[in-house]
Amino acid sequence: MTFVVHGLPVARGIAIGRAVLVVSSRIDVAHYFIKPEQVESEIDRVRKARDAVAEELQKLQASVALMGPNDTPQELSALLEVHQMLLQDEVLTGGVKHWIVERLYNAEWALTTQLEVVARQFDEMEDEYLRERKADLEQVVERLLHRIKGTAAVLAPTPPRRKRAAAEDEDPHDPTAADAIDVPLVLIAHDLSPADMLQFKKSVFAGFVTDVGGRTSHTAIIARSMDIPAVVGARSASQLVRQDDWVIIDGDAGVMIVDPSPIILAEYGFKQRQGDLERGRLSRLRHKPAVTLDGQRVELLANIEMPEDTIGAVKAGAVGVGLFRSEFLFMGRESQHLTRLPDEEEQFQAYRAAVEGMKGMPVTIRTIDVGADKPLDNKSAREDSHLNPALGLRAIRWSLADPAMFLTQLRAILRAAAHGEIHLLIPMLAHASEIRQTLSLIDFARAELDNRGAVHGPVKLGAMIEIPAAALTLKTFLKHFDFLSIGTNDLIQYTLAIDRADESVAHLYDPAHPAVLKLVADTIAECVRQGKGVSVCGEMAGDVAFTRLLLGLGLRSFSMHPSQILAVKQEVLRADTSKLVDWAQEVLESENPAAALVR
Ligand code: PEP
Ligand code: MG
Repeated sequence: MTFVVHGLPVARGIAIGRAVLVVSSRIDVAHYFIKPEQVESEIDRVRKARDAVAEELQKLQASVALMGPNDTPQELSALLEVHQMLLQDEVLTGGVKHWIVERLYNAEWALTTQLEVVARQFDEMEDEYLRERKADLEQVVERLLHRIKGTAAVLAPTPPRRKRAAAEDEDPHDPTAADAIDVPLVLIAHDLSPADMLQFKKSVFAGFVTDVGGRTSHTAIIARSMDIPAVVGARSASQLVRQDDWVIIDGDAGVMIVDPSPIILAEYGFKQRQGDLERGRLSRLRHKPAVTLDGQRVELLANIEMPEDTIGAVKAGAVGVGLFRSEFLFMGRESQHLTRLPDEEEQFQAYRAAVEGMKGMPVTIRTIDVGADKPLDNKSAREDSHLNPALGLRAIRWSLADPAMFLTQLRAILRAAAHGEIHLLIPMLAHASEIRQTLSLIDFARAELDNRGAVHGPVKLGAMIEIPAAALTLKTFLKHFDFLSIGTNDLIQYTLAIDRADESVAHLYDPAHPAVLKLVADTIAECVRQGKGVSVCGEMAGDVAFTRLLLGLGLRSFSMHPSQILAVKQEVLRADTSKLVDWAQEVLESENPAAALVR
């Protein structure tokens, strides 16, 4: 039966494919595709873990048998018996094998996927005793996951299957209609950490939906960078969809259609082709310089998460990197069996690769910004704390609390600066004391390199304006920094007191709120007045609804995901800034700027 689930639109376009449910387990689980030749060894990992758990349970059973009947509850022995049975049950073992062989999931992912499938069957059972066995099954799978964690797997994020749009006339209910290996897959999850998303970035999902998240949560930001249709904040989507269901993701409307009828499929197939045509048209702008009708040059820069993203940035025609979110080098390492933090050499290689990838164009590296919805490990900070992590130890606060870690990063960046033009950007500054400490640590890092005789280069120094306190004390910032970069995602969050990752208040997260626009406008105006560089690197920079307004406010440097560059360039090419200045002031003064923004 067809039904629709509503959420927030975060990345445009239509995706049609089979659902891949990623379930969150209490154990930090890596999700990645293996190569076909790794299937056997992956099945072997599960087999070995199963044997080890069987032995563990046997030992427990033996020790229970040794105890007197007064020392142990009778049920314990029966329970261990149940665990043994569940462990060997064909539904679990056969199912896990199925996901590894047919879908090329890594062992951990296959286990949690099959757990979800079987757990739902338990949920539907009428017999209460049997329903309660779900908890036993979860315990058995957790034992298996603990065992598997100890066995190394080779990371192979290479896509195992080709991406193919479902044919318009294809019946999604017909299992013979498409080869399972050839069907586009869409990802459905309760929540995905940014680190998980990074793994998926290297794979071939045609779209994704999560139950939680706001429009500028980091999970949504990465989805946008993947340039695939995405919907977040879809509440119970992951409960309503089953593995392998056919779904349509409409990233423009923010909806997911489950089990679509042939008529609905045909309609969305048409929309999908329209989108492809539009992209084709935009791609002709790739080599055109971004100059307005009145001759104003506009710098369109890329936001990246990893050095290899520079390939997409150059392809999209970016003239530099305006934001390298370096924290992604630090995240999700545990599940990849890497050291907790990257050392100086590893970081240096990554920054140098980004610089070289941009072929002489400038690269803005932002120092680590973990915390809030970007925890170092896959676990959400919210799970562990009753505190609000967005207001806690995050970004520069985290760096200043751990000077050795920060100095390591600074040395790596300064060394990479000997290989190309680097701008060093500091996130989340609010206090003059933080500025002073940061600057002295940069000097210290340089001195350390000198003492070591290590080669390093000059950097331009920039600060992010993403806390209202910073936007209200610009003079202090401009005294110390060469340029400012406005992080509208956080500026909106902190100005309006709206958690950017919380879908329950997403309707109040308003980039066009007069207070937000005033802070953005004042920052641009002050930098222009003082002849300092200024750019916007939050999601507002890639949103075509704001391009003309920002141009009218005097902005000439925009940094966004490569996938957004061509659409923004089209707006720039059509704009006449001389006509936008007065209009932009009118928008600023309007009580309802969102309405005034509409042409
Ligand atoms: C911002 O806050 O606008 C920004 C660019 O930084 P991040 O989204 O990584 O917090
Ligand atoms: Mg920010």
